[in-house]
Amino acid sequence: MSEALESDASLLVVVLDINASAWARSPLALDDALQQTIIFINAYLALKPSNQLVVLASTRSECRTLYPAEPGSISDGEDIRVYEQFRAADIAILSGVRALLSSASAAASRAQTEDSEHSLISRALSKALCHINQMRSSTLDAVWPRVLVLSAGVDAAAEYISLMNGIFAAQRMGVLIDVCKVAGAGDSVFLQQAAEISGGVYLRVDARAGWSLLQTLLFGFLADHYTRQVLYLPGNERTDFRATCFCHKRIVDIGFVCSVCLSIFCRMTPVCSTCHTKFAVRGGRVERPAANGANNGTQGTARTISQQLSTASTTSTLV
Ligand SMILES: [Zn+2]
Ligand SMILES: [Zn+2]
Repeated sequence: MSEALESDASLLVVVLDINASAWARSPLALDDALQQTIIFINAYLALKPSNQLVVLASTRSECRTLYPAEPGSISDGEDIRVYEQFRAADIAILSGVRALLSSASAAASRAQTEDSEHSLISRALSKALCHINQMRSSTLDAVWPRVLVLSAGVDAAAEYISLMNGIFAAQRMGVLIDVCKVAGAGDSVFLQQAAEISGGVYLRVDARAGWSLLQTLLFGFLADHYTRQVLYLPGNERTDFRATCFCHKRIVDIGFVCSVCLSIFCRMTPVCSTCHTKFAVRGGRVERPAANGANNGTQGTARTISQQLSTASTTSTLV
């Protein structure tokens, strides 16, 4: 793809993680975070009249598109005194979050779910990519898409595979994934990798240390593709590249990678549970299959992650 021009429009998809349990432990209240996010969104809309916006919100049980809202789904009775251009987005986001939180609390009380601080971002990312694909195909003008994830919860190991598939799809589509870790203890390993692989920015707002969410959003994430070519944005030097094994969904430092489908295992297994490839194991050691045609698609080799991680990040074939 050619380089972005100053006149090109942006398409920003904001993913709000409104997991109530994660926000309950955060020093920054969800209401305050929402107000600051709306100011950021208004600033983005004010930058260029042709800028496009999609806002998604995700809870543990559901992921909804808040903006653009369905016609007739928003009442005109909301008393928000803002510039007319921002009004539709502000009302849609505030009323949408309110409705989603009430339905999520009803669902949580019914299901009595555990691990409620775990966020399920993968489906929101998939939905974001669908919106981008749809909006790109409906316009002939150059539009530069990016996704901004406001993350609050902790990584859910069970969604590692689907999230990585989404990240590789975004990389192939040329979509930047920016991540702002707003709440929750520590960094998100998965979202750090999302930002690193897609070329986006990962920043964590430490509210206890006096960091301001609005300041971080405006200075770290407002710049479009064109402006980023001349800016020196914060890097992702401290990205944690550990992966999650497919067998136990645990984060591992060293593991085995199937050479056929790139599945990751924490220990050597004779057969890949994903693609059913049989590995050549002799005397407790894993060997390469013979070169004389023995590898007919049913045999493979298991290598350590350090040998194949670079391959995995470029071939985009996690299953
Ligand atoms: Zn395992
Ligand atoms: Zn495999």
